[in-house]
Amino acid sequence: EAKRNGRNQVCQITPQITQRMQVKRQIAATIPGALARGEFTAYFQPQADINTGEIVGAEALVRWHHPACGLLYPADFLDIAAEMGMIEDIDRQVLRLALAAVDKLQARGINLPSMSVNISAPRLMDPRLPADVASSWIDRRCGLSIELLETIYFDDRREVPQIKENLQQLRDMGVEIHSDDFGSGRASIIGLLKVQPDRLKIECSMIRTALRDPRKRKVVAAILEMTRALGIAATAEGVETADDIAAVRSIGCVYYQGKLLAPPLQEPAFIAFLSHQKMATKKKTAGRDDLP
Ligand code: C2E
Ligand code: MG
Ligand code: MG
Ligand code: MG
Repeated sequence: EAKRNGRNQVCQITPQITQRMQVKRQIAATIPGALARGEFTAYFQPQADINTGEIVGAEALVRWHHPACGLLYPADFLDIAAEMGMIEDIDRQVLRLALAAVDKLQARGINLPSMSVNISAPRLMDPRLPADVASSWIDRRCGLSIELLETIYFDDRREVPQIKENLQQLRDMGVEIHSDDFGSGRASIIGLLKVQPDRLKIECSMIRTALRDPRKRKVVAAILEMTRALGIAATAEGVETADDIAAVRSIGCVYYQGKLLAPPLQEPAFIAFLSHQKMATKKKTAGRDDLP
């Protein structure tokens, strides 16, 4: 009886799955054209110093203005793009859009200290990456950071020589490496020591849960103390309330981003927002040798 029910349930959801797969296939088929037509765009989310309130940077987040589906978010299409081998091209485009935004800011006398872009694993292996950065970002007054999902460090791809080579070349150019979504499940001390990121980005939702439990809170605080000793500062993301900011400050996060400061903004709104904010002064990226 249970088995038949189970089978019935499977039958019931099959049309939905088929439909989802069709939507997926439709989306996938339009990615190359969408890239060519410039339908991918970047939103920008400001990041601030928790203690001074000064703007320290911004993160570029990809969006797709799909002619039929409307505004699509990364969750709607990034996996498909990755499966199709097109995520490198999206990341390249976002880098260009981020650069264009920095140019517009500088033309208005706004010197954003740093711009962050998310880099997918295939893009991290892309031999064009260092040259793209070198040709576009060199001599900018704005720093550049790349955000890597921590999962990258723990699958076998981390041993790909091209990744090592790319990361080294980027560091030599002064690009900072930020570990994204740290603590979401796949972090390890070994991975941290291997990659030695300049910054940890911590999902606020994770911290929110941890802080309710005194034991977990101690663990999170201890991890941040250890990484601080390695010269790695932490950014809290997804900070939505005054309580959130108090909590992340209490465990030693230095920077934050989230709806409390500003949601991801379209370029004109981003420029308007920044024109009313105080910018932190750009600090020189510490070389590996400068670390304690
Ligand atoms: P992420 O890098 O961890 O980005 C932070 C996410 O938190 C963004 O989701 C942002 O819109 C969202 N967020 C901002 N403020 C708040 C808040 O106050 N509360 C909460 N709960 N969330 C907030 P988004 O834009 O949907 O991006 C999702 C993920 O997609 C990103 O996570 C990143 O991993 C990936 N992604 C985004 N843009 C790119 C890109 O250009 N290239 C690649 N490879 N990945 C990207
Ligand atoms: Mg990110
Ligand atoms: Mg993140
Ligand atoms: Mg995330």
